[in-house]
Amino acid sequence: KTIGAMLADAAARDPDGEALVVRHQGVRLTWAELKQRSDAVACGLLAAGVRPGDRVGIWAPNCAEWTILQFATATAGMILVTINPAYRTSELAYALKKVGCCALIAAKQHKTSDYVAMLRELLPELETATPGLLIARNLPELRLVATIGDDASAGCLSFNALEAEITPALAAIPVDASDAVNIQFTSGTTGFPKGATLTHRNILNNGYFVGAGIGLSKADRVCIPVPLYHCFGMVMGNLACLTHGATMVYPAESFDPMAVLETVADERCTALYGVPTMFIAVLGRPEFDSFDVSSLRTGIMAGSPCPVATMREVIDRLGMHQVTIAYGMTETSPVSFQSAMDDPIEERVSTVGRVQPHLEVKIVGPDGETLPRGEAGELCTRGYSVMQGYWDDAARTAEAIDDDGWMHTGDIATIDEKGYCRITGRIKDMVIRGGENIYPREIEEFLLTHPHIADAQVIGVPDDRYGEELCAWVMTRGGAQLSEDEVRDHCRGSIAHYKVPRYIRFVEAFPMTITGKVQKFAMRETMIAELK
Ligand code: ATP
Ligand code: MG
Repeated sequence: KTIGAMLADAAARDPDGEALVVRHQGVRLTWAELKQRSDAVACGLLAAGVRPGDRVGIWAPNCAEWTILQFATATAGMILVTINPAYRTSELAYALKKVGCCALIAAKQHKTSDYVAMLRELLPELETATPGLLIARNLPELRLVATIGDDASAGCLSFNALEAEITPALAAIPVDASDAVNIQFTSGTTGFPKGATLTHRNILNNGYFVGAGIGLSKADRVCIPVPLYHCFGMVMGNLACLTHGATMVYPAESFDPMAVLETVADERCTALYGVPTMFIAVLGRPEFDSFDVSSLRTGIMAGSPCPVATMREVIDRLGMHQVTIAYGMTETSPVSFQSAMDDPIEERVSTVGRVQPHLEVKIVGPDGETLPRGEAGELCTRGYSVMQGYWDDAARTAEAIDDDGWMHTGDIATIDEKGYCRITGRIKDMVIRGGENIYPREIEEFLLTHPHIADAQVIGVPDDRYGEELCAWVMTRGGAQLSEDEVRDHCRGSIAHYKVPRYIRFVEAFPMTITGKVQKFAMRETMIAELK
């Protein structure tokens, strides 16, 4: 099936059921209304000259229009390019050029960002262009720019004006499940984001299995504070809801712990998504206890490793007894492992669960040999969920997907006798100090056992003597004062001497991707500059 066909099914089955709630815009759409509006936008795009197979960019924080456009482009056989709303002009230009976007839908304003001003800077021709007939010197393929909202600025259409009369031409467009439907950029945790090309079959199936993994049904209301531009929001959020008839609920334009608490309480959400840092922020709000979160039963935590203590709090204080952990990557649509709602707590706090249906996995050693159960090596996955490739980048695609169709994840993992998978780190983050392999995660978990440490990140920095030395960045809890020696004393005697960090820095924040992940490469760059 295609995404458009699934939306038609949902609208036929439950026309008056609530499909989408966008709290910060005050928008509520039923499945019939969502289908109606996305078909109208699809027809508007076709009328403006956008063809099936064309790339349409979306550069906006979470909003109703984002999701309407997601379904519109899928229905019309177009390829939605999801652009990080934190991008600035040069990154936007790179993304648009890289995939040859012919249309761009942009927000006007978000927080301190003036998107219209950035568009003007990138496209001086907008000033005098007829909307929809842009001729831009540096981006020749881009013809149409629309901004979200009612009124348009010079050279742009308004998103609302794209909603055209629905014509039979839309239904006549042949769309196949094996067609590309999205180009999604990876988080950029380890460097420059890569654009993964994904098909209807890839992401619709993955959304379905992820939703099944938390038992979603029409009765569920899923609070989605994660960015839509990323697979966590658009696949695990939107497509899981679509395929199970559950309601998508967006608390805010971008992550805001107070908005999450208000939304869960007011909307009686049954499920909550987030990366671990988001759950830590929600649980850490002093107002937490004044909100009624008793409607929550499940949710998904994914994206980066979850500290054991956080997982316990999610179960005990948020009452998400059926919370599951998911592991995946943009390139695999994304999820390949998910814990079951009834997995024993021990398994749920320490593993990412078992492999998803219809996927194959293996762990390989440095020479590509398959390792026996229990041994640590690179995790590889194969099956329906593996992307077509990186857009227009055959070389990097060939590095990631081998001739037998195995996606090499770059993550180090073990799989035990019962099939539970533990992610121990990224190959790129592993530290080799004096010949010893050190997994930073182990030390991070240990540092978190100190009562005054709220969060900790460990990296390797170059060292003449040992090749690499360990460095820990520590965030203390509620203004607590800690010294480097106190942190080291905490480690000594409890972990092996070579795992005690040589460098310790106290920080207020870590460099983060908008998806909430710590960018260790940026920490490394900072330390290298400092230690020079
Ligand atoms: P980039 O590839 O641009 O450096 P990224 O790998 O963070 O960024 P994503 O595709 O968003 O981009 O994230 C996938 C990665 O996130 C995985 O390869 C893995 O390292 C990490 N990850 C995802 N889920 C989990 C999880 N449950 N536990 C541990 N790590 C996870
Ligand atoms: Mg990656």
